[in-house]
Amino acid sequence: MSFYTYFQEAQAGDVFRNKDFFEITDKLSIINHYKDIFNAPHQHVQIEKARQALILAYRNSPFLLPGSPLCQHFNADCFYYAQLALNCPLNCSYCYLQGLYKTGHCVLFVNYKDFITEVKTLAESKRDKKIYIPLTHETDLLAFKEGRKLLQSIIPELAAFTEIQFEIRTKSAVPDFFKTVPVSTNIIYAFSLAPDEIISSYEYKTPSLDSRLNAVKTCIDAGHTVRVCFDPIFIVPEMDLLYEQFFIKVFSALPPHRVHDISYGFFRMPQKLFRYCANLHEHLYIYHAPYSREGTDITYPAELKARVLHDHKIILERFIAPEKIFVLD
Ligand code: SF4
Repeated sequence: MSFYTYFQEAQAGDVFRNKDFFEITDKLSIINHYKDIFNAPHQHVQIEKARQALILAYRNSPFLLPGSPLCQHFNADCFYYAQLALNCPLNCSYCYLQGLYKTGHCVLFVNYKDFITEVKTLAESKRDKKIYIPLTHETDLLAFKEGRKLLQSIIPELAAFTEIQFEIRTKSAVPDFFKTVPVSTNIIYAFSLAPDEIISSYEYKTPSLDSRLNAVKTCIDAGHTVRVCFDPIFIVPEMDLLYEQFFIKVFSALPPHRVHDISYGFFRMPQKLFRYCANLHEHLYIYHAPYSREGTDITYPAELKARVLHDHKIILERFIAPEKIFVLD
């Protein structure tokens, strides 16, 4: 996908000539600070999503932030996430970022050399620890060409930090990308997959399941490490049959022995953000399902999740060893 318009912070121009690096042919407007556009008051997320801007910015604060307990950490001793971008070019109606940023625009931080320096410092301070760092925690860098360009620049450098597992999660289908980056065992490509009924109902601007499966196959064939993510799982009235057919379709298309592991988790969202997102999508069933509260989060009742998980695990364990299935409770 491409953006409707582009902005660049004046200070970000010193890093490199963004216009040439990102091959931006449209008008690139110079601004003082990314917050002049991003997170400005009185914005409407969904109107902006239809005419999204990409803002190239310089990050002064740390790139690495402590991970949330709401997210998987795959048995790592330390979990940080990298904030290389703010917001996502895709438009999932269940995404908490709508409530967090209240804008449809995206920011990409271009001083990635500073990020590499931070990773180096972290690796030196946590010797002998297993570290997990998702690079696309609050975005999908593979979904837009400037994000892919940034990844192509950092992946060869990150390959040197063998003690850190980096994850690049995506809902995109850009198979050619995987032929352009070196294979490295510490970089895992995590593909979020969902039944087509969920994709067409809730994951606006994302490719179909068949397109995503084709991208996963290309990624595997190129020799990369692949994680499959079934997250978020929705409990919808016709769910039993929907997910059973979906899991079988996925593992008919992919060689299960080439899947490193599975990430599985039910829909959940902080209550404060849920209220905001529900106002944007009042008509959607997912904002009216019978949820319960777990601490400050909204999710399905524990007994319901346990029953569905039990049924899904029976199917998944036909393809993948139980110890490779990571469930976020
Ligand atoms: S792909 Fe992920 S980050 Fe992007 S809109 Fe969808 S849920 Fe949000």
